[in-house]
Amino acid sequence: NSTVVCFGELLVDFVPTVGGLALADAPAFKKAPGGAPANVAVGICKLGGTAAFVGKVGEDEFGLMLVNVLKTNKVEVKGVRFDADARTALAFVTLKADGEREFMFYRNPSADMVMRPEELDVELIKHAKVFHFGSISLIAEPTKSTHMAAMKIAKDAGILLSYDPNLRLPLWSSPEAAREGIMSIWNQADIIKVSDEEVNFLTNGGDETLDDVVLELWHPGLKLLVVTDGPEGCRYYTPEFHGKVESFKVHPVDTTGAGDAFMAGLLSKLVDNDFGLHHEGKLRDALQFANGCGAITTTERGAIPALPDTETVLRLMSKESM
Ligand code: ATP
Repeated sequence: NSTVVCFGELLVDFVPTVGGLALADAPAFKKAPGGAPANVAVGICKLGGTAAFVGKVGEDEFGLMLVNVLKTNKVEVKGVRFDADARTALAFVTLKADGEREFMFYRNPSADMVMRPEELDVELIKHAKVFHFGSISLIAEPTKSTHMAAMKIAKDAGILLSYDPNLRLPLWSSPEAAREGIMSIWNQADIIKVSDEEVNFLTNGGDETLDDVVLELWHPGLKLLVVTDGPEGCRYYTPEFHGKVESFKVHPVDTTGAGDAFMAGLLSKLVDNDFGLHHEGKLRDALQFANGCGAITTTERGAIPALPDTETVLRLMSKESM
């Protein structure tokens, strides 16, 4: 059985070989497997855990390539479907001079948008301990209904629901639609991970302190809310306690996948600790490990190739404590 089932998009990112240029001026692109939920599944397997990916790609060479990447990394792929008509999703990345990334998507519609509820592997989801998802799968039907159906299967089976919205504004019709879409399933999640930019977007920012803003995002069933903040590490909020865990000092070259690596590290540790979310010390250890996973991922290019194994994370953590 796969302990964590990740649902959502699996796509090819085309990353320019030269950064800091407009998309049209990029001399060439390198293909890289992408899709946040798929990255999280690979991240968990690289850390020695078991994870499955559930989603849809096109019946084309890119789709096959992506599924092979998952298989190579020991991700369970029996819940992946191939669409005969729609192509595998593509995203062209712009690497801006300030290190930020912008995405231009080819989805008209792409295979990830046309997964139907009857294509779900119900048994796979039911036997997991965590069902993890993002918000891109909420943008278009029929995948939106499939996402909702999968969450219901997980909830009915008593499985923990883990949510990392991973805001991709250009995919939504408007910022309001993005906010509404992301918030539409908020109250169903047991664990939510957001970045500080996403907190600003979802709450309209303002002058309040982060702790005050987070109160706006709290819901009664929530067990853990984590806000990541790049080199600063992360903040955590549970019904019993809240605090901050610093990240590790590294020399970042590309932050792609840091958030997904963080999520993989956090879920791996929570599964190992049997979700001991009432024990602050254990939660802080898990978040420190997750920071280590995120930090290491920034030191190599790309997402999947940069996701670390446990030994590499522990090495970074022990170096810091010396
Ligand atoms: P992305 O969308 O690029 O995958 P994100 O915006 O979701 O990332 P970040 O907050 O940038 O997420 O990073 C996630 C975690 O990775 C941070 O909480 C931190 O633990 C680690 N991290 C990211 N950047 C750095 C850095 N420069 N130095 C140390 N740790 C980092």
